[in-house]
Amino acid sequence: MGDSRPQLFNTLTRRVEPFEPLFPDARDAAGRPAIGMYCCGPTVYDFGHIGNFRTFVFADLVRRYLEFRGFGVNHVMNITDVEDKIIRRVRESGKTLREFTGHYEAEFLRDLESLGCLRPHHLPRATEFMPQIIALIEKLEQRGIAYRAADGSVYFSIEKYRGCGCRYGQLVNLNFDAMRVGERVANDEYDKESLADFALWKARVPDDGDVFWDSPWGQGRPGWHIECSAMSMTILGPSFDVHLGGEDLAFPHHEDEIAQSEGAGVQTPGRPFVKHWLHGAHLLVEGKKMSKSLGNYFTVRDLLAKGYTGREVRTLLLSAHFRETFNFTLAGLDGARAQLARIDECLAKLRELVAQAPSPESVAQAPSPELVADFIAAMDDDLNVSKAWAVVFDWVRDTNRALADGQLSPAHAAAALGEWARLDSVFGLGTKASDEAPAEIVALANDRVAAKKAKDFARADAIRNELKAKGWTVEDTAKGPKLKRA
Ligand code: AMP
Ligand code: ZN
Repeated sequence: MGDSRPQLFNTLTRRVEPFEPLFPDARDAAGRPAIGMYCCGPTVYDFGHIGNFRTFVFADLVRRYLEFRGFGVNHVMNITDVEDKIIRRVRESGKTLREFTGHYEAEFLRDLESLGCLRPHHLPRATEFMPQIIALIEKLEQRGIAYRAADGSVYFSIEKYRGCGCRYGQLVNLNFDAMRVGERVANDEYDKESLADFALWKARVPDDGDVFWDSPWGQGRPGWHIECSAMSMTILGPSFDVHLGGEDLAFPHHEDEIAQSEGAGVQTPGRPFVKHWLHGAHLLVEGKKMSKSLGNYFTVRDLLAKGYTGREVRTLLLSAHFRETFNFTLAGLDGARAQLARIDECLAKLRELVAQAPSPESVAQAPSPELVADFIAAMDDDLNVSKAWAVVFDWVRDTNRALADGQLSPAHAAAALGEWARLDSVFGLGTKASDEAPAEIVALANDRVAAKKAKDFARADAIRNELKAKGWTVEDTAKGPKLKRA
């Protein structure tokens, strides 16, 4: 390893490159090289689906791995709590904006936790950054890059921006011949074919209801893209290290973020807004992007209700390389469950062995001293999780073999667990929840006993199936029924 660096694919340069901090001398409070990292967070208009969470788990992996490699990461994830879709839903719900978004924000954080994601250090809400958003638009206006439209909205002029020597189309290739100067898009979401000036500030319209703020341009609300530029630069400074999101955000959202942030001219000359852009590939269903609009989605809570655990879902979401799409299936999730069970079983055996000798007499060599080095080699290679999992499963196999052969002392087992803990600071799987069944499951098991007593075997079987669907098996023993995780 030596002083090797993780290698990461950067959408901006379109190549895998060594990860070097933007400010090599900057240190965090713990003395580690300081890194600023921003991930576009959820739009809180509904529950997130596991496609969204693939991206958030990916961001969590990047943060954890950079921390594991000794960097001090300042992790920012915004909460988009005002944009087109939210306004529509708020109107339908009859609630206030804050009541409406507050509910989904809390549920989002719960889902994030059940998937084992570390809480970002900052979770800024767009609605709480209005002065900074307005100041940024004013800066663009002063530089002649933003202009007012007849309705009082403010737009970003791509022509003026390019005229200042700035490059539009840094993350994607764009066809400017197809663009008509001054043509505008009011919606936050649009495609490359509608390359046009985009809205920074949207003048209030009746459909906005109570959702508006005062500004130098009259009442209105910000566009989605400017929110992220303002929040990221306020918290991390005008230039920072890493910006992430799903691949669909590269255009227009991230391209527009670059244009707004660099167009404001707030960076030290020669420094970019963001050094490394990382985009996670989509989670698919039968070859199509999992999305709300197609209706082909599962939420985290859907899967928990089916008896899967957050750890199992996390294992699945981390099974593929971040730049590769993959299809979600329940069979795939069952596969992740089986893989995790193999790891858990091995760890349980190691713990049992350690428990036999409460304080290991000496620090022993772990059974696979190369485990951590192999893991680093895999992950340094553009976060190659497939290789990293292969390293883990080789280790599980070797450890199981050594355990079966009685070759491991409690001290060996303790050392092996210590090594696993280092890897798990990145995988974030944690330990399996206790096998004690929750009250709801015990109640079902009791109902089954009662049904059997009443000779209602059909009902007893139906309850057994229900338990199975929730991830539990029931074994009838001499001492009564025994519940086990399936
Ligand atoms: P949203 O809440 O719609 O703003 O999306 C939050 C994040 O989820 C963004 O980074 C999107 O790029 C990402 N995302 C949306 N759909 C998928 C998907 N099917 N697979 C992976 N990421 C997704
Ligand atoms: Zn964003």
